[in-house]
Amino acid sequence: STARPDPARPRILAIANQKGGVGKTTTAINLATALAATGQPTLLIDLDPQGNASTGLGLPRTERGAGSYALIAEARPLADVTRATAIPGLSLVPADQDLAGAEIELVSLTRREFRLRDALAAERFESRTIVLIDCPPSLGLLTVNALVAADAVLVPLQCEFFALEGISQIMRTIEMVRRGLNPSLALQGIVLTMFDRRNNLSDLVAADVRGFFGDKVYETVIPRNVRISEAPSHGKPVLLYDVRSAGAQAYLALAKELLRRERTAAGAAS
Ligand code: ADP
Ligand code: MG
Repeated sequence: STARPDPARPRILAIANQKGGVGKTTTAINLATALAATGQPTLLIDLDPQGNASTGLGLPRTERGAGSYALIAEARPLADVTRATAIPGLSLVPADQDLAGAEIELVSLTRREFRLRDALAAERFESRTIVLIDCPPSLGLLTVNALVAADAVLVPLQCEFFALEGISQIMRTIEMVRRGLNPSLALQGIVLTMFDRRNNLSDLVAADVRGFFGDKVYETVIPRNVRISEAPSHGKPVLLYDVRSAGAQAYLALAKELLRRERTAAGAAS
């Protein structure tokens, strides 16, 4: 295509994997923070009823008010549900209390798979904005809304036994969404998380995944790092909690690699 990307249109990335505990939310919080730290206007949408991305960015359950449920179920304007965070350049659409019922309520709404896409399409964004969507650990309507709204999917993959089997289900879902609801949905990349360099299994899994998915797999690997797991209980991304930790540095490297990959992709498309 010769079309240039519309600067007012954000780049929308869904962070998805139907497995829980693989590092989706951790990646959403810390990648969003690292992107904002490099000067990229960033919006994180918490689409998981557990709301861990909201808590991890310092917004406790009791202080959330209207959030992603209001945005997609009640068609509230984005500005009404967006909060500033402690990180300059990073804003947040929190998970609200009502999001827990959304999987069921969405079923009876019109354009139920397109609610998030419609909500974002109605907005104007600062140029170069990146929107990250933290998906719940399921492939229900909330995740489908994210995949329909997104340009591409970022899949965090934990370095463990059966990693490749675990990833096949999200790949099938991406394929299904492409065939019907969002033909241009791309696989942005696969990020290996909780990598333990003292464990041979991590190396074996990484080699396996790279053998299968090639350069879709990020060179940057997120190590298992205790500072990453401590940070959320302080309501902080690891970059604010301990910027010198291996975890913080890995997420900074991931953000740089993501921007490099995005530039390459945009160059190839123009
Ligand atoms: P998901 O959103 O996929 O369910 P989370 O991001 O919530 O996964 O991560 C699951 C748990 O693992 C959390 O307790 C988190 O703090 C921890 N965790 C995630 N990534 C790392 C890491 N690189 N090092 C150590 N702990 C991690
Ligand atoms: Mg999560």
